[in-house]
Amino acid sequence: MSVWNYLSNHMGLFATVVIGAVAYYGIRKDQKASEEAVKVLNKAKKSGMTDPFTLHPVIDESKCLGCGSCTEVCPEGDILRLVDHVSTLVSPSKCVGHGECAANCPNGAITLVFGTKKVGFDMPRLTVNYETNVPGVYIAGELGGMGLIRNAVKQGRLAGEHACTQIKGSSPDTDTDVFIVGAGPAGFAASLAAIAANRRYICIDQNTLGGVVNNFPRQKVVMSHPAELPIIGKMKFVQNKISKEELLQYWLGVRAKTGLQIREQVQFEGFTTQNGVITVRTSAGPVTTQKLILAMGVSGSPRRLGLPNEDLPKVAYRLIDPEHYRGKRIVVVGAGNVALEAAKMLGHPKYENEVIFLVRGKAIDRANDENREDIEKMAKAKMLSVWFESQVKEIHPERLVIDQGGTLASLSNDFLFVFAGADKPYAQLSSLGIKIEKKFGEALRSTG
Ligand SMILES: Cc1cc2nc3c(=O)[nH]c(=O)nc-3n(C[C@H](O)[C@H](O)[C@H](O)COP(=O)(O)OP(=O)(O)OC[C@H]3O[C@@H](n4cnc5c(N)ncnc54)[C@H](O)[C@@H]3O)c2cc1C
Repeated sequence: MSVWNYLSNHMGLFATVVIGAVAYYGIRKDQKASEEAVKVLNKAKKSGMTDPFTLHPVIDESKCLGCGSCTEVCPEGDILRLVDHVSTLVSPSKCVGHGECAANCPNGAITLVFGTKKVGFDMPRLTVNYETNVPGVYIAGELGGMGLIRNAVKQGRLAGEHACTQIKGSSPDTDTDVFIVGAGPAGFAASLAAIAANRRYICIDQNTLGGVVNNFPRQKVVMSHPAELPIIGKMKFVQNKISKEELLQYWLGVRAKTGLQIREQVQFEGFTTQNGVITVRTSAGPVTTQKLILAMGVSGSPRRLGLPNEDLPKVAYRLIDPEHYRGKRIVVVGAGNVALEAAKMLGHPKYENEVIFLVRGKAIDRANDENREDIEKMAKAKMLSVWFESQVKEIHPERLVIDQGGTLASLSNDFLFVFAGADKPYAQLSSLGIKIEKKFGEALRSTG
């Protein structure tokens, strides 16, 4: 019998073996991926990093198709993985709230929430249009609890558009129709919405256009997914990456094109409302308006360590130009992306700094994979040192006292950079009558 005849006589058997082998290989691959995912999850549990810090996904297992779409789209990398064919949040504390997972789930199995059942998350009570409980007063951008440029632009646009549609006819009884506080991404988009709606508007900023982006380190690569600006349309960048300088330049171009006016160096001090008229108190005097959009971000109040001597000039809460630091011994505190990016820049060999990066826990668990891997490589190449389970206990002009795993050590240093996030100015908002509520794993009402 020829080989051909033999094969045709046993075709059924042959096909079964091939299909079986492929299926076995597929199942084994899935099992391995699942086991890897459990390892990542256990690692997060072991280091106590099980609570997300911001908006994050909750997966409805009964709806999850196990297709893995959500695991592939996360810009932060390894945050969702499939465990036994169900999408699972394996690195909760690394999630920064892009929301791509929910947007890409084909079966609506993902809900984005703030806080968990155990850990509450403070945020202003907002309607789906970003209006607070005080009629006519809106909150957009990071002040509302959600970070990222794209979210700020979207919320600013939606709040601005809604505020404009709520103004009936012309309103000569007030100085302006819409008053916008902050010219960061949210305030910028809200102001453009007012221009697009042909409304009178005033936008103030205690600094200038661009918000916290101005404070990013020089040449920082800004990650941002497409966001839609009123008048201009989609703001898209190559591979969703752009340098800080290019982004600011782009916004200046939009400002020139649209004639957007910003009253710079003017500070918001508060507001009162009476008979539907809002009186805004500013450092340049009071202004009456129909609608008020608060887009002040949270960068004004960086979280401090709460130690004596924290006001010494050697302590800083942001890094703008690493060029200013050469041949210094620098301690960097924090475990999020901002801290890692600063340590990476300061540790570049061209600056000849000695950088010591202090991490409170046993692992770097709050940053994306790219930053973490870069830091690990730099530590291996002795370009910087990472001290785990370490925190600053005392600050002195020439030195710090560090608690390293229970042992106190004195460390001479030139600079201390603290990147511990920011305290949200909710006490001020509360005092103005805006309701702040705790979210315990509740879905976002304002999906927009
Ligand atoms: C170091 C760092 C790196 C980051 N990297 C990225 C990134 O790569 N990609 C990304 O998407 N996001 C990133 N973010 C987050 C992002 O920058 C913010 O989420 C976003 O800028 C929020 O926009 P916003 O308009 O709400 O607030 P902000 O950008 O903070 O703007 C608020 C504006 O309000 C003004 N203001 C505040 N208080 C007052 C007052 N009382 N009176 C008048 N004006 C006032 C401020 O001067 C400021 O201009 C980063 C943040 C930091 C700190």
